[in-house]
Amino acid sequence: MSAHLGDPSHPSPLSPHAHPAIGVMGGTFDPIHFGHLRLAEEMAEGLGLARVRFIPAGQPPHRGAPHTVATHRLEMVRRAIAGNPRFELDAREVESPRPSYTVDTLAALRAELGSEQPLWLLLGADAFLALPTWHEWRQLFELAHIAVAARPGARLLQSDVMPEILKNEVSQRQPVDGPVSGPAGSVLLRKMTPLDISATAIRDTLARHGSARYLLPDAVLDTGKLTSLFERMVIASGTSNRQTRALADNVRIKMKEAGEYVGNTEGEETGEWVLLDLGDVIVHVMLPATRTHYNLEELWGAAEAARARHIQADH
Ligand code: ATP
Repeated sequence: MSAHLGDPSHPSPLSPHAHPAIGVMGGTFDPIHFGHLRLAEEMAEGLGLARVRFIPAGQPPHRGAPHTVATHRLEMVRRAIAGNPRFELDAREVESPRPSYTVDTLAALRAELGSEQPLWLLLGADAFLALPTWHEWRQLFELAHIAVAARPGARLLQSDVMPEILKNEVSQRQPVDGPVSGPAGSVLLRKMTPLDISATAIRDTLARHGSARYLLPDAVLDTGKLTSLFERMVIASGTSNRQTRALADNVRIKMKEAGEYVGNTEGEETGEWVLLDLGDVIVHVMLPATRTHYNLEELWGAAEAARARHIQADH
């Protein structure tokens, strides 16, 4: 398949429609960042969307548990989109007691907005490539058009990385010539200003108390809110670089055995400060000198420190 990449500076020809199209931007938004916002903005402009609804996921069924409680993620999105008249917040997934399936959300929107309303599900390339793992994924094409933005690190358009079943859908659904019409069913692959920003990298940076400024709006980057990302933090000391690595390794193995979420590990090369992302809990294993130098307990404030468990591992 030779996929065609639409250029955002040249709006794709959309057929004039009685109902101005609406974009749906789902995500964990843990936290929301400029990659999300720019994707929505460029798609809105390029596709002529009247509005983009940001719908933070409640408890996403297809990935590890989010790190931040849903209400805080909602608040971060609310702050991030404030001031953009085209962007709006939709809290339905967060407020739902059931797991969030995109197919259910789109079906609900379709029921509310009517069968004629053009809807565009906006996705980054990594999310799109994982589409066949989503609940009732083929149904998505019945409910909305899908616009996919290239994302640094996700090789969307080299067809060798696209699962065959997805490739088949794309080749049938890419408009060849002429306008995109109707309320649903097309797939557009589009360029966007490449922004190599991810929520994971932001969380890791913040966990090290590094600066995440200019990766996300200042209004979101409010440590008062973001400390909730690391509400539960375990700090341990290892007496040697080898031991810090071994301790972190041990925790990772035990958590995996217990079937718990295990995310990235960082700092294993040097072993001075190994950080293990366990979703709800961030584990820091540090050499005593590093631990004293960075004094995370103090950095995160007295209240946070009181909640942190300090584990002194001597062997
Ligand atoms: P994490 O690192 O926790 O996986 P994320 O940064 O990928 O998070 P999500 O909330 O999972 O953010 O993403 C929501 C949607 O935004 C997805 O469709 C994803 O592909 C897209 N997206 C996120 N960041 C970018 C980016 N930098 N460029 C293009 N698309 C992006």
